[in-house]
Amino acid sequence: MAYDVVIIGAGMSGLSAGIRLAYFDKKVCILEKHSRIGGLNSYYKKGGHEFDVGLHAMTNFVARRDRRKPLMRLLRQLRIGYDELDLSEQTRSSVRFNDKTLYFTNDFNTLKAEIADKFSAQIDGFIKLTDHIDSYNELDINAKTFPAREVIDKYITDRLLSDMLLCPLMFYGNAKERDMDFWQFVIMFKSIFEEGFARPFEGVRRILRILKNKYNECGGELRLGSGVKKLTTANDGSLRVVLDTGETIEAKKVISSAGYVETMRLCNSSDEPDEVPPGKMSFMESLYLLDKTPADLGIEDTIIFYNNRERFDYKNPDTLIDEKSGVICCPNNFAYDTPLKDNILRVTNIANSDLWERLSKNDDEYARAKETSMRLTRNAISQYVGDFHSSILYTDSFTPATIRRYTDHINGAVYGTEEKIRSGKTRVDNLYICGTDQGFLGIVGAMLSGITVANLYALK
Ligand SMILES: Cc1cc2nc3c(=O)[nH]c(=O)nc-3n(C[C@H](O)[C@H](O)[C@H](O)COP(=O)(O)OP(=O)(O)OC[C@H]3O[C@@H](n4cnc5c(N)ncnc54)[C@H](O)[C@@H]3O)c2cc1C
Repeated sequence: MAYDVVIIGAGMSGLSAGIRLAYFDKKVCILEKHSRIGGLNSYYKKGGHEFDVGLHAMTNFVARRDRRKPLMRLLRQLRIGYDELDLSEQTRSSVRFNDKTLYFTNDFNTLKAEIADKFSAQIDGFIKLTDHIDSYNELDINAKTFPAREVIDKYITDRLLSDMLLCPLMFYGNAKERDMDFWQFVIMFKSIFEEGFARPFEGVRRILRILKNKYNECGGELRLGSGVKKLTTANDGSLRVVLDTGETIEAKKVISSAGYVETMRLCNSSDEPDEVPPGKMSFMESLYLLDKTPADLGIEDTIIFYNNRERFDYKNPDTLIDEKSGVICCPNNFAYDTPLKDNILRVTNIANSDLWERLSKNDDEYARAKETSMRLTRNAISQYVGDFHSSILYTDSFTPATIRRYTDHINGAVYGTEEKIRSGKTRVDNLYICGTDQGFLGIVGAMLSGITVANLYALK
């Protein structure tokens, strides 16, 4: 018998869509190519140590009483209790451009006070920009969009400040080089600056366990190790989903979180050109296990967004990585009740996926390149976090090639295509897109996207 809905991918968006559909008694099956759930936000064990892949922080932190905020709305839709997430707030984060620093916390007034203090001539413009952002409905999928810089420039005349504001928002959710869409800017501004960061004590494992248990309780079916190779349409408009094993599954509707270009390639013959170019913004992540807490090394911030250039330049680099800007994350620096078992420092840098793909074909060269890149990054961040070399117990790293291998996203593009498919519709009847390429990024965004697409196209 045909499924009501087949979902491609058991990442945050696919699992969330699955919960909604299974809760309303749809016959639903999630097909996940890999042997583990989580997609871009999974976890792994290496050298006896446990690491998260994606989670630096959950954005959209909200004190539990504010029921209108995105996090509370999504928890209600998924019937998950706020306390189940066991969230601890960030202590304080910063944007550091050489000798200029802006601190921010989960209280938006901290950022306002910082701007009033360090960019006094810009504070009135910043407040007007904030009013404009607050009045914009970023969730309207038909809203017109413009380049964010065009709008920001109307309110903020100091390019250093606009770059410092854009830096965290771009690193945590921008598929475009150098500029971002205004609606995307608004989503990220609200979720990072106005709402803020938090983390479950157990990291991403806790979020994934909650989603998987909820999906199972509602009666949804999950098949791991089940890659989708092809999608074809039957005469009655239903879809035939062909797996890598050759098995065929019938579904009235398919919701795919595999990415827009990736999904359309499942429908097309191999010589058909892509409708939109695949995304290319990807990252190298360096992970350091330390013998001391970051605080003992003098690192107080939860997350530091840094830039060492005269001008911030968010773009795919010509070199393996761009070590001159990036993100430093200290998972220990959230306000937990008890300290984390491991002391960890993570660094994210934009990376060139073509160069890493080529290198990854030779194990020795690939390993050497990873080591060299980690050294470059350590030097570049020493002005913000000091030299922690003598405290390193264990290191690991992953590159765009790793991300591509474990998620099947072309180019390991973490934020997908530049052009988002906000409606979630494709040119194939009954085939919809959710997750990154619908335009809602990050953990909370992906979950909201899964819920929205399931509600719109499979429940109404
Ligand atoms: C290094 C890194 C750090 C990050 N840090 C944060 C953070 O701190 N905070 C935050 O909010 N977000 C963070 N993110 C982003 C966040 O992880 C993603 O935005 C979110 O997880 C995307 O979820 P998704 O469901 O849209 O897509 P995905 O997680 O990509 O899920 C898609 C799934 O589809 C599967 N799939 C693909 N093709 C097929 C196929 N043919 N057949 C079957 N299955 C298939 C994939 O294996 C994958 O599991 C980070 C990401 C990375 C990589």
